[in-house]
Amino acid sequence: MAVRTLIRHLQYMWASFILKVHIILDSAVKTAGPLYILLALSLLSCIIYLYYTAVLPAVHQLNSVEGIAHLIVSIWLIYNVFFNYYWCIQSDPGSPPLEFDLGADMSQYETGAPVPQMRWCKRCRKAKPPMTHHCHICKRCILKMDHHCPWMHNCIGFYNYRYFFVFLLYLWSGCIYTVYMASIPLFGTASQEQTSGKVNGVLFTFVLSLAVFGSLSCLLGWHIYLVLTAQTTIDFYGNRQRRREARRSGQVWVNEFDVGKMQNLRNVLDASGDRLWWLKLWLPLRTLPRGDGIRFPSRYGSPDAASGGNSSSRHSPPNPYSTSIASSSRESVSNGDGENNWRPANMV
Ligand SMILES: [Zn+2]
Ligand SMILES: [Zn+2]
Repeated sequence: MAVRTLIRHLQYMWASFILKVHIILDSAVKTAGPLYILLALSLLSCIIYLYYTAVLPAVHQLNSVEGIAHLIVSIWLIYNVFFNYYWCIQSDPGSPPLEFDLGADMSQYETGAPVPQMRWCKRCRKAKPPMTHHCHICKRCILKMDHHCPWMHNCIGFYNYRYFFVFLLYLWSGCIYTVYMASIPLFGTASQEQTSGKVNGVLFTFVLSLAVFGSLSCLLGWHIYLVLTAQTTIDFYGNRQRRREARRSGQVWVNEFDVGKMQNLRNVLDASGDRLWWLKLWLPLRTLPRGDGIRFPSRYGSPDAASGGNSSSRHSPPNPYSTSIASSSRESVSNGDGENNWRPANMV
């Protein structure tokens, strides 16, 4: 008996210790946010400075046609990188609106009495739309939360995911462009006169850009996969679990928000529903994503969000008790903040 009490006591102490570590780490990430941004800006500035002082002069004369063309291309890439970086940091990722506040109705959840099937957050005391998760660093629920990004000092959620994704695209393009340009004087046919005194700078730029390019390729590839399959980073792990559980019971689990690769891509990148949406990717544009972050296009039909454009439903959110918000084809049990309590119900 005494041993069992001791084990329980030790378990409690261990859980308290882990909780404290999590709290300390969360506050460290939040406090260090501006330093991460400073580090990212320093790294970018370093590559840009070396590109203009060592790489470009080693490849072309700056007053030549080729030199001016490369100057324009590089400025366009840099502007798009900083534009999307700035707006990803500045944009609020979005939280469930006031209408999702459970307020006094929380008592029925806390007593364990039967409640409508719905996801809810015990910290924010709010109902949670599909793909909404609580961020322990921002201390609030984030619509379509992907992850908390220390490099952005912000959560990546519904309203800033497009900036994040386009930022990755341009940064990746900038890195591969810099690697290519730096490789010309290193491995190509640039004249001795052009490269003299700049070899170290060119080599350093090449190695630095290649390292950033390598890590960005993994990150960008991952996010391309997520966009094409209509998932967030957090939901990917939950969906994988549901898929496994379904397989064990001889069923197939289907992501209801996966409406086809091209449509999934457009739901993230094409804010206006315009036919020439892909052209806008070439320009630094401030734009809102499709929908309201509460309802999403579904393969089982979701007329409001599927209609495209910036839905006016942001101003009139639906009833949080409605099962259409709580993802009608998924079942959840109402306890805790509902992060891991989905039951795989949308199987075919
Ligand atoms: Zn919350
Ligand atoms: Zn956050």
